[in-house]
Amino acid sequence: MALINQVLRGAFRRNSLRCFSSAAASAPGSPCFSLSDEQREMQDVARKFAREEILPRAAHHDKTGEYPWEIIKKAWEVGLLNNHIPAEIGGVELDVLTSCIVAEELAYGCTGIMTAIEASGLGQTPVILSGNEAQKKKYLGRLLEEPLVAAYCVTEPGAGSDVNGIRTRAEKKGDEYIINGQKMWITNGGVANWYFLLARTNPDPKAPASKAFTGFIVERETPGVTPGRKELNMGQRASDTRGITFEDVRVPKENVLIAEGAGFKIAMGTFDKTRPPVAAGAVGLAQRCLDEATKYSLERKAFGVPIAYHQAVAFMLADMAIGVETSRLAYYRAAWEVDQGRRNSLYASIAKCYAADIANKIASDAVQIFGGNGFNSEYPVEKLMRDAKIYQIYEGTSQIQRMIISRQLLDMAKQGGN
Ligand SMILES: Cc1cc2nc3c(=O)[nH]c(=O)nc-3n(C[C@H](O)[C@H](O)[C@H](O)COP(=O)(O)OP(=O)(O)OC[C@H]3O[C@@H](n4cnc5c(N)ncnc54)[C@H](O)[C@@H]3O)c2cc1C
Repeated sequence: MALINQVLRGAFRRNSLRCFSSAAASAPGSPCFSLSDEQREMQDVARKFAREEILPRAAHHDKTGEYPWEIIKKAWEVGLLNNHIPAEIGGVELDVLTSCIVAEELAYGCTGIMTAIEASGLGQTPVILSGNEAQKKKYLGRLLEEPLVAAYCVTEPGAGSDVNGIRTRAEKKGDEYIINGQKMWITNGGVANWYFLLARTNPDPKAPASKAFTGFIVERETPGVTPGRKELNMGQRASDTRGITFEDVRVPKENVLIAEGAGFKIAMGTFDKTRPPVAAGAVGLAQRCLDEATKYSLERKAFGVPIAYHQAVAFMLADMAIGVETSRLAYYRAAWEVDQGRRNSLYASIAKCYAADIANKIASDAVQIFGGNGFNSEYPVEKLMRDAKIYQIYEGTSQIQRMIISRQLLDMAKQGGN
């Protein structure tokens, strides 16, 4: 923690991205806007960590599915974990843009490991946004004291995109709530110390979503909480994804966020802050694909020349570079908007959707450039293609992002805005 603290303490919140202005990038892959010195230092620390600690272990965790605790612990020691925690609790309170820049670098090493780190941020964000002082001190403070992780429990076996359809129930009995239900696809589900959990508190099916649900902090060790088996996913296999059963789980009323009925807004509002880092993760993966494919295309020969000299291959690389640069700009914009204190849902959805789609296209093209080798697990791009797919699914599918974007566009048009 010491290293990052030195870089950050106080500096970031005074001096985040200086602009959204000119200072052009000098080389492909470098940010296109002028970052502060501290942001560049953070980027360097994250880049070094990803290249030295994550990348060499990525294939092992992909093959075994072992949770990367040793890397999580090192990341915690260096200060790359829990960067969003407010300064009043003792955290470094990074702005969203800087945490995105860090996320991109970590994702370059392995998006499965980056997701394990990022999902803890997803679990923390509802508490950061709406926890009271005691809740923040207890649950966020704990994550600063020890290398522990949190998780975000919303999706259920019967409801993902349609959050209004979740069926986990919380009933108030005296000073406690009794929670019953099942969650599914929870990242960090088996390893988290505590969960943010969304449950229905108003049994009336006609109650509006804005009043029907409540957000709780639930300790993993509470009796009745049972994580299921680790799911065997297509990619990002270092990440721990599980279903979790909640059976007569007693949660004190002190663990309600804001108040009964406020949960839906908290759960959805979280995404304005967490979708930009997810987009940044997809960009990290896309950049890695581009780098691997470029290097390979200069080494591999066909018809007497490196394949990079065949225009069809060179143009694929060019399209990949266009995708990396533009999706990076999209997450910069989304992060920068929210850092200015403005509602960024539109930009967050654009960035998440675009970066996810681009990462999938680029990963597929990288496999193509590797030819037969690209289809084989001895080469890096096969894993990258498997890892890319989830970006179009978690934190809202690409279809749901398009729904959000189109609704906002139409609302603006109706109001005569731009
Ligand atoms: C590896 C992994 C990790 C995850 N981590 C978490 C986590 O930490 N916490 C958590 O709460 N959840 C998590 N999720 C759940 C994830 O957010 C959901 O899977 C996702 O939101 C989609 O929900 P679903 O799977 O129920 O699909 P469905 O909602 O059933 O959707 C199925 C398909 O229908 C489409 N669709 C649905 N509704 C519409 C519509 N109105 N218009 C157009 N198309 C539509 C979808 O886009 C999708 O293509 C994770 C999932 C995975 C696979």
